[in-house]
Amino acid sequence: MPKAIKKVAVLTSGGDSPGMNAAIRSVVRTCAYHDIECVGVYRGYEGLIEGDFKSMDARSVKGIINKGGTILKSARSKEFRTVEGRQKAFKQLTKAEIDGLVVVGGDGSFTGALIFNQEFDFPVMGIPGTIDNDIYGTSHTLGFDTALNTVVDAIDKIRDTASSHNRLFFVEVMGRDVGHIALNTGIAGGAEEILIPEEDLGLDRLVDSLNRSRKSGKTSSIVIVAEGDKIGKNIFELKDYVDENMEGYDVRVSVLGHMQRGGAPSCFDRVLASRMGVKAVESLLEGETNYMVGLLDNKVELTPLEKAIKGKSKINLELLRVSDIMST
Ligand code: ATP
Repeated sequence: MPKAIKKVAVLTSGGDSPGMNAAIRSVVRTCAYHDIECVGVYRGYEGLIEGDFKSMDARSVKGIINKGGTILKSARSKEFRTVEGRQKAFKQLTKAEIDGLVVVGGDGSFTGALIFNQEFDFPVMGIPGTIDNDIYGTSHTLGFDTALNTVVDAIDKIRDTASSHNRLFFVEVMGRDVGHIALNTGIAGGAEEILIPEEDLGLDRLVDSLNRSRKSGKTSSIVIVAEGDKIGKNIFELKDYVDENMEGYDVRVSVLGHMQRGGAPSCFDRVLASRMGVKAVESLLEGETNYMVGLLDNKVELTPLEKAIKGKSKINLELLRVSDIMST
């Protein structure tokens, strides 16, 4: 019989994403609903090692559902990667009489949580919080939907200036390993081409495609480039290549950068975070451990952390085809 859970801790780790606050709120309120104690851990695993804890009740999380970032702060901890660091964290948790941990973060944070469980048999539950949507076992990570809306808003604005000056814009969006943000925002923002890590379009095809769209009467163009695009050239090298190989376009570059991580979470992310927080706490109470909470077929389901870490999040191939047809 697993030990009954009476006190749960929650932390946010790795890169922040919109919706993390809504997830903290949900974890805290689900604990209050079930009449168990809840503790917020500041600065991810760093705060876990140092015992930087704060008791939280339903009222401590008022007014945060609409806020970007994370009130608990996030951090990357080198020390937690060592056995000594994790031993210190275990001592802090034991001292505070905490018997379950919810980790909101990406696959690195989940790897740390899984190792921690294996070493100390401490119950852990993961909530995927990252804008890249690069985690297996959920159709959406927290913050992905908000980031899409932020990027589409930026593309719309860039298009205004692109069309006023007959310009070609390369717009770089986040996504080192997966092209979810590029593919979705490229379609939604009416991009002429979308360069993603999963597919090598090739430089010649890119130039051909831009030439074709110009012949068809387009005077300005937008190309969305994921950070890790498979062509392997950074956005400035792409600009140089097109400058050298195409005439008649004024080529510009826009790197959207960290603004993609900020802002108030969308309605979708707030609802998702609320659902995930409830599932994470209730699963711990039912004696489950080493799972990630995710959205699958619009149901909140558990995926073993090990699978979530090792599995690969795949782009939707139908979207690739739609994007090809739309750029005709
Ligand atoms: P993002 O997707 O935003 O990068 P992430 O959770 O993958 O988020 P990481 O920096 O990879 O971010 O991991 C966050 C923290 O998790 C690390 O700083 C470290 O403390 C812990 N961690 C990652 N990998 C391990 C590991 N192999 N062993 C122990 N702890 C780890």
